[in-house]
Amino acid sequence: AAPVLTIDGPSGAGKGTVSRLAAERLGWHYLDSGALYRAVGVAASWADLDVSDPAALVRCTFDTSVRFEEGAQGLRVIVDDVDATDELRLETTGALASAIAAIPEVRAALKERQRAFRRAPGLVADGRDMGTVIFPDAAYKVFLTASAGERAERRYKQLKEKGVSVTLDGLLREILARDARDAQRTVAPLRPADDAVLIDTTGLGIEDVVTRVLAIVTG
Ligand code: C5P
Repeated sequence: AAPVLTIDGPSGAGKGTVSRLAAERLGWHYLDSGALYRAVGVAASWADLDVSDPAALVRCTFDTSVRFEEGAQGLRVIVDDVDATDELRLETTGALASAIAAIPEVRAALKERQRAFRRAPGLVADGRDMGTVIFPDAAYKVFLTASAGERAERRYKQLKEKGVSVTLDGLLREILARDARDAQRTVAPLRPADDAVLIDTTGLGIEDVVTRVLAIVTG
C-alpha cells in the first residue's frame, strides 16, 4: 500500500497549511478530512435538515457527493456539483461539522471514502483521527498542537484577510468550546496516536514546522 503521513491536531494548530505544503513537497496526494465533515454540514444546511436529527444527517452523509478539484485559485471543494469552497470555511460550517462529526454512523459512513484517497506515490492525511482510526497503520504520524491563544490569533488573521468581521475574544471562546467538544465526545475523541510525533507549533513559523514534518518522512 502507498505510504501515509497523518497530521492530526486541534483546529488552528496549522494542520491545513502544513499538510498542503508537505504534500506538495513530497509530491503526494492530500486529504482534507475536515472538508468532508464540513461538506456534509453544508449539504445539511442547504437541505434545511434538523441538526438534532441524527438519522437525517446520516442519510445526508450517504447522499452527499464531495469532489476536490485543483484549480487556478487552489483546491476547490465541490459539494453535489456546487462549488462550496467559500461556504466551507465559515465558522458556522465548522461548528455544524463538529456537531455532525459526533455521530458515530456519520464517521463510519466516511471511513472508506477517506481510505480511498490512499494512492501511490503517497498520501498526506489531515484531520483529527487520521493516525488513530482511519490510517492506524500509517508509517508516519504527526500530532500538531499550539496554545489556544495562538490558534485564535492565527484564525483571526486569516479571517481578517478575507474581510470577515470577527473578534479575537469571540474566536478564542469558539476554539475552546470546539476543543472541549472534540476532546470529550465519545466517538473518536481528539488524542494523538501512541506512535505519533508531537509538535507544539506555538511560536514556530510554518516553514519550521514543515521542515520538522518532512524530516520525519525523509529521515
Ligand atoms: O479541520 P476542520 O476544522 O475543517 O474540521 C471541522 C470539524 O470536523 C472539526 O471540528 C471536527 O469536529 C470534525 N472533524 C473530525 N474528524 C476529522 C476531521 C474533522 O471529527 N478527521
